Amino acid sequence: MRIIHGKYKYRKIDFIKHLKFSPINSAIRESIFNVLKNYLNWEKTKICDLFAGSGILGLEALSWGGNFCFFNDIDQKSCDILKKNLQKMKINSNLSKIFTTSYSQFIAQLKKNKELLDLIFIDPPYQKKHLVRESVQEVIKQSVLNNNAILVAKTKQEKIDISTQKEIYLLKTKKYGDHYVHFWQFNSDKKQPEIIIKNNKLIIISGPSGVGKKTVITRLLNEAKLNLTYSVSLTTRAPRKNEKDGLDYYFINNEEFEKEIADNNFIEYAKYIDKYYGTSKTYVQRLLNQEKNVILEIEIIGAIKVKKKFPKAIWIFLLPPTFDDLKKRIEKRNTENPVEIEKRFQKAKEEINWVTGDNLCDHFVINDKIEETITEIKKILEKQVKIHD
Ligand code: 5GP
Repeated sequence: MRIIHGKYKYRKIDFIKHLKFSPINSAIRESIFNVLKNYLNWEKTKICDLFAGSGILGLEALSWGGNFCFFNDIDQKSCDILKKNLQKMKINSNLSKIFTTSYSQFIAQLKKNKELLDLIFIDPPYQKKHLVRESVQEVIKQSVLNNNAILVAKTKQEKIDISTQKEIYLLKTKKYGDHYVHFWQFNSDKKQPEIIIKNNKLIIISGPSGVGKKTVITRLLNEAKLNLTYSVSLTTRAPRKNEKDGLDYYFINNEEFEKEIADNNFIEYAKYIDKYYGTSKTYVQRLLNQEKNVILEIEIIGAIKVKKKFPKAIWIFLLPPTFDDLKKRIEKRNTENPVEIEKRFQKAKEEINWVTGDNLCDHFVINDKIEETITEIKKILEKQVKIHD
């Protein structure tokens, strides 16, 4: 087994062959470090290889230029080999330290020494899968992480439930055969990190109530080439008859919504006829991490906020053929009472006058005949998003 990248590139790493689990292979390692390089400044990165085994992950991180690495393994034989690996590579005590103890005692030791980490690798033996969740919880409980520290865990579990740990956010999960690698980020101020967009796009679909946004979006989601997905918003309005929690919206109460605001958990949020609506940062980041183009179906105030933060977002506004037509559509939908219908109709007029008057969005599309609407939006998107064949 060899180091892949950096100052120790091609150096051979010895490991115990009879161990029940084998060291992480080079393809997975390479992929992990390709993710990490987006988040870390290696020179300042203090690392810990928590279930070190041969120490290959910690060594690779030092090779990338990591500042210091703690290696820990409860198995004496593994630590002996690791020590030899370090000696061979002339990695001395300025760069590394080995502990031979349980993960909890090791973390307690870090805490006692007031050490703070920026990167933790968690790759325990598969038969001890509970160790992933337990060790993540322990590092947070013991406060041994710097702000924005990254935690990387390799496991056979697709999901790890650490939802009680408010301070860490899942950045990404990558699948390799029957293994998963989870990347989390720690935020001591409990605020979510700002979202990171790479080659994919945010696509805003706005339009007055009743214009047919849902129908248009459903049709667009079937266009595989556009590689689209939909961001489910949070709202305090009551579900309509056919709406499902988690599918149409996440329906929450005022108190819960206001807590999300206080925790800075929204990309944007707005009030629409007395009810809150908002777009979750973690939810959208998860979709972006799947390398999808994400549709946000939001009203104007929210859309303006998104465009301000992400000028490359594509904002499409759907218009009805006429106001009369719109009123008929809202009434025909039969989802609101007459008072609510009137409020929505007045709001719709206000919105249309505002967006068209100030020419706020990137594209206006009149939604008269659905086929024509879809063709027009496809034309707009095909120019701007990466097409999947
Ligand atoms: P409805 O109650 O008809 O589902 O939605 C009312 C309005 O809220 C619509 O214009 C819809 O686009 C908008 N909306 C839905 N989700 C969000 C959101 O997350 N943020 C914002 N700002 N508006 C949203």
